[in-house]
Amino acid sequence: MSQSIAVIKGDGIGPEIMDATLRVLDALECDLNYEFIDAGLAALEKHGTLIPQESLDAIEKYSIALKGPLTTPIGKGFSSINVQLRRHFDLYANVRPAISFPGTRSRYEDIDMITVRENTEGAYLSDGQEMIDDGNTGISVIKVTRHGSERIVRYAFELAKKNGRKKVTAVHKANIIKTSSGLFLDVAREVAKEYPEIEFQEMIVDNACMQLVMNPHQFDVVVTTNLFGDILSDLCAGLVGGLGLAPGANIGEKAAIFEAVHGSAPDIAGQKIANPCALLLAAAQMLDHLGMNEKGDAIRHGIRAVLETRRDMVTPDMGGTGTTDTFAQALVEHIKQ
Ligand code: NAD
Repeated sequence: MSQSIAVIKGDGIGPEIMDATLRVLDALECDLNYEFIDAGLAALEKHGTLIPQESLDAIEKYSIALKGPLTTPIGKGFSSINVQLRRHFDLYANVRPAISFPGTRSRYEDIDMITVRENTEGAYLSDGQEMIDDGNTGISVIKVTRHGSERIVRYAFELAKKNGRKKVTAVHKANIIKTSSGLFLDVAREVAKEYPEIEFQEMIVDNACMQLVMNPHQFDVVVTTNLFGDILSDLCAGLVGGLGLAPGANIGEKAAIFEAVHGSAPDIAGQKIANPCALLLAAAQMLDHLGMNEKGDAIRHGIRAVLETRRDMVTPDMGGTGTTDTFAQALVEHIKQ
């Protein structure tokens, strides 16, 4: 039976990279129905709100959304749409693969790791921010719960198990932040015992930063709390050549939203030179999530092959002379071979 997914084309370069991505999904014959929904600036113009209720309803109904980047208008009192979506659907796991691809300017080759970041608690609480002392003291609360820690660590181990990965590293600062980070580490140790076949490693966050830069190949799956995960996942994207190739998934019990990590790139919108890779890799994550791992792998292998052999068809940010469309075209040709 065919699967329906909600599709948000997004703002800026969103529609260009989404069209390229859907073209590749169609070539893979994934048997997906696309329900196009509005969000971001496009929704604001049409409906007067950044996320109309019918868009939320569609994501809830189909439980899967593929999302182009959205522009959050600055200085008009709008809160980030991504944060709103995360909260609305309790998307507790932010999953970001960092994979090396040929032809990218990066320090290392052959990196293949995934960061799993807790997405709903930690230091990023909407009600945990307070200015006191006439604005001279800022207070930020860090809240970590057993429930939140257990479900994120379990998610990381299940992901490792499903993908044949060998090791999970829990990153923490339990030596100093004994309460919140201490609880996260205690829970991680408990959950790890349920997965004896997967190696469990603990690492203090400052050491993890150094180890990632000095010897990234030792990592496989990294699981951590919200703030550390935010920083480490960008560090990992930097290790493999920046945000142009960084996909991300936000996953909850009832819904999952797959997206590129980069934004709507208004500076190059409409020029047809946007790199579709990050959104394509997010689509590959979505296919994995839907149990179509072979098709997900076909996208990843296809991107590798195109980057290696069709420099004329890849976008200028990757050193090519092609466009968003020729990149998609080259991938489709590779898939149809
Ligand atoms: P950005 O990621 O849009 O752009 C940063 C730089 O990277 C720009 O020079 C841009 O041209 C380039 N770039 C980004 N994606 C590219 C691609 N696919 N191919 C080639 N070059 C690419 O970051 P920004 O300029 O800080 O943000 C622009 C808008 O995007 C803002 O409104 C911001 O709120 C929004 N944003 C949305 C998301 C999201 O929806 N997930 C994430 C980040 C930023």
